[in-house]
Amino acid sequence: MDDNRLAAELRAIVGERFVLTDSAELRAYECDGNTIFRRTPRAAVLPASTDQVARVVRLLASNGIAFIPRGAGTGLSSGVVPQNGEVMIGLSRMNRLIELDLRNHRAVVEAGFPNLKITQAAQDAGFYYAPDPSSQPVSSIGGNVAENAGGAHCLKYGVTTNHVLGLTVVTPDGAVVRLGGKSLDATGYDLVGLMVGSEGTLGIVTEVTVRLLRRPQGFKTVMALFDSIAQASDAVTGVIGAGMLPGALEIMDKQAIIAVERGPLRVGYPEGQEAVLLIDVDGLSAGLDAQVEAILRICREAGCTEVRAARNLEERLKWWANRKGAFGAAGNLAPNYVVQDGVIPRSKLTEVLAVVGEVGEKYGLTIANVFHAGDGNLHPLICYDARVPGSTGKALTAGSEILAACVRAGGAISGEHGIGIEKMADMLVAFSPDDIAVQLAVHDALDPRDLANPGKIFPC
Ligand SMILES: Cc1cc2nc3c(=O)[nH]c(=O)nc-3n(C[C@H](O)[C@H](O)[C@H](O)COP(=O)(O)OP(=O)(O)OC[C@H]3O[C@@H](n4cnc5c(N)ncnc54)[C@H](O)[C@@H]3O)c2cc1C
Repeated sequence: MDDNRLAAELRAIVGERFVLTDSAELRAYECDGNTIFRRTPRAAVLPASTDQVARVVRLLASNGIAFIPRGAGTGLSSGVVPQNGEVMIGLSRMNRLIELDLRNHRAVVEAGFPNLKITQAAQDAGFYYAPDPSSQPVSSIGGNVAENAGGAHCLKYGVTTNHVLGLTVVTPDGAVVRLGGKSLDATGYDLVGLMVGSEGTLGIVTEVTVRLLRRPQGFKTVMALFDSIAQASDAVTGVIGAGMLPGALEIMDKQAIIAVERGPLRVGYPEGQEAVLLIDVDGLSAGLDAQVEAILRICREAGCTEVRAARNLEERLKWWANRKGAFGAAGNLAPNYVVQDGVIPRSKLTEVLAVVGEVGEKYGLTIANVFHAGDGNLHPLICYDARVPGSTGKALTAGSEILAACVRAGGAISGEHGIGIEKMADMLVAFSPDDIAVQLAVHDALDPRDLANPGKIFPC
């Protein structure tokens, strides 16, 4: 089908304004938050309902045209970057709250609904949606489902897969299926679990049923300052090893602290500070002080030099805005950066962070570390200057070497950002050919013509 005819048929489904074919307009769809990989799609189409998504997919499937679902485009593994003339299906118009069912602690939203808005819709009644990626004001719940997003407070409450109970999905041939629902345990195969983290390669999520949690009665936020990242990591291992489960345990190293302190979100860390551990505890107000004291005792044993407690909600929010703004703040260190996303057993934090430092030295690159320490989810921000020839390649190679170290330490190559294009080659380090063949067999059963976000995740 030629481009003009395709555009006309797509417009007949979604309306004149919602099919983009102009090359300037399509530039907005050429990449996600990882700007290294870029390519414009053949067209972008913006449906407004599950029915329109299904009709668009059926049109494309009947003509053998592949498609890419896109949420807010904040992904960090280039999962929305076209490989070969795919049509982008953007979910941004599907941003309605369908149902707030507080009696059952559930919300049903369209896939383009931003994560944070779920909490905003429920908070007056004392509820919230727990998974909190730092991108939560913008990233869509559909994108969160596709990447199995995590966040600072997922240590205690679990990641996206632990909070998604039901999905409406348009399959790669355009059928509409409903998986799971409002109850905790759906019968049959766990297809909700399969869809979560599938990066748009098994179909398009159009509606999501999530679990809402009661907001804890109280919070305490403290920070512990350390003279070395190893001491901060030891404190994290000590806290969890002692059987405590804080709401969040987040570490920033010296470079990350420099980055955030150079921006508008600064909180006033001492100059030259080597590491900070940000700690949230939550629960019944009565027990919080004792919890904090027990945690700080372990921090002191690990060598912490100073402790600060947030004096009020405003300060707490400021500290968290500082931490959650750390990726963006890497722009204060270098013109470009690429963020990696390895996971390791917590007890290996010190060992693998040493490797991160060695890799940075080997390639002459500044690497800032900001990470979900409690989960062992590392986020080395590898800084480089794309204007220097060879610099981008070095940053990517450095990232792969760090991921290989994570695998050697018994970890994995993605904690929450997915594989996309960026980490496809690293799949061969993490999985055997047989492991990959089993995953591909599942893929091929559901998308035999490889129409849903092709050329992602699997290196072959
Ligand atoms: C500053 C910053 C901070 C971040 N912090 C975190 C963090 O703390 N934790 C974390 O987990 N991630 C984080 N991310 C990464 C990113 O925000 C998440 O991966 C998020 O889940 C992506 O959502 P999105 O709507 O932007 O998806 P997109 O980028 O649009 O798409 C991501 C992938 O999901 C697929 N997809 C999107 N929508 C659908 C759908 N409806 N159905 C099927 N497939 C779909 C796409 O095809 C693509 O493969 C951060 C990103 C940035 C830029």
